[in-house]
Amino acid sequence: MPLEGVFLGGGHEVGRLGIKLVCPGARLLFDYGMTATDPPQYPAPCPPVDMLFLTHSHLDHCGMIPWLTARYDIPVISTGASRDVGMLLIEDSIKIGKAEGYPEPYNDSDAKIAKRKFEEIMFGDTTRAGDLQIVAHSAGHIPGATMYELIGKKRTLITGDIHTLDTRLVAGAKPVKCDNLIMESTYSGRNHPARLKTEYALLKKIEEVSQRGGMVIVPSFAVGRTQEILLLLKDSKFDFWLDGMGKTVNKIYLRYPEYVRSIKRLRQAVNRTHEVRNMHARSRALNGDIVVTTSGMLDGGPVLSYIDAVRNDPKSAILLTGYQVEGSNGRKILETGYMEFQGVSEKVNCEVLKFDFSAHAGHDELMAFAKGCDPEKIVLMHGDQREILAGDLRAEGFDVLLPKNGEKWTL
Ligand SMILES: [Zn+2]
Repeated sequence: MPLEGVFLGGGHEVGRLGIKLVCPGARLLFDYGMTATDPPQYPAPCPPVDMLFLTHSHLDHCGMIPWLTARYDIPVISTGASRDVGMLLIEDSIKIGKAEGYPEPYNDSDAKIAKRKFEEIMFGDTTRAGDLQIVAHSAGHIPGATMYELIGKKRTLITGDIHTLDTRLVAGAKPVKCDNLIMESTYSGRNHPARLKTEYALLKKIEEVSQRGGMVIVPSFAVGRTQEILLLLKDSKFDFWLDGMGKTVNKIYLRYPEYVRSIKRLRQAVNRTHEVRNMHARSRALNGDIVVTTSGMLDGGPVLSYIDAVRNDPKSAILLTGYQVEGSNGRKILETGYMEFQGVSEKVNCEVLKFDFSAHAGHDELMAFAKGCDPEKIVLMHGDQREILAGDLRAEGFDVLLPKNGEKWTL
């Protein structure tokens, strides 16, 4: 019997992923997330399934777990790092949901139920699902991020989000030989600049701002990006501060050395970081060289008060470290020089620049990864420009499927 698949979300778009796969003897779901836009976007309601496999703890992959476990009494297979960070994000999203007043897909008691459903898996471990053996592999995206290899009559690899190059925080993912490859395609058609060049450019800009007497704000996602930036800053001479949820994520990652490229270096970076623990420390942080803080796209969090404090100082700079999605405050400041503070649009007179510290494989890396896996069939997901990558893969002789959300496909 073939595998029957359908995307409940995240097929032809980046975000709210849910991959339902029916295999002999089991109905499986891989990830169940939400897109934290304003208002949030959810995947299609999931019909009954027997198990959930979590690839990693970004909200677009884990954000709907409590909705699922409130309805179905099923295990959530995940690494320990993905569970701990995932629950942190889920609890935070409930708080944000309450503050913003949107109808909530689940509540605190649903989140408590979800927490009890997790079953830990480690890289190299095998678990059973129906007639399949399922093996966990490192996805290289953030600490604990997992690819799942499904072994039955055929082998199928589900990548989740992947990065194939080593970053300071995690080692890159390695291809896994398979017959079917279900692969993310966020960066279809786009490549990243060389990481070392980006790192050098960021440090040089910080030096320049510091020389001219300004202060640097580095808005960073709490999960993965913050740690990558701290690992870069740790060998610099600058005085750097950290505020927001990244502090808690640091503590979680330090508990899981097996998922971090060098736990020694991460510990050194965390030890060198000044943490902002109260309002008094916030004003001290503003006398340092750099503040690293959330949110990465300027849509809430402590970053707003830091930017507000320096926004009329042309000597200061806001150095964005990730993709700024359409409609975000970060995109607005890049395009217009204005951003929203508590619903009021204000001009920001600091220098604003963006640096590409992506944790996703670029186009050429996705091509190389697919060739290394050498499958017959490839399903591309988690991309809004999948056709470009599909074209290049077909030219190499691969059979490529591009199912939209809700369309059934078989492998
Ligand atoms: Zn991710």
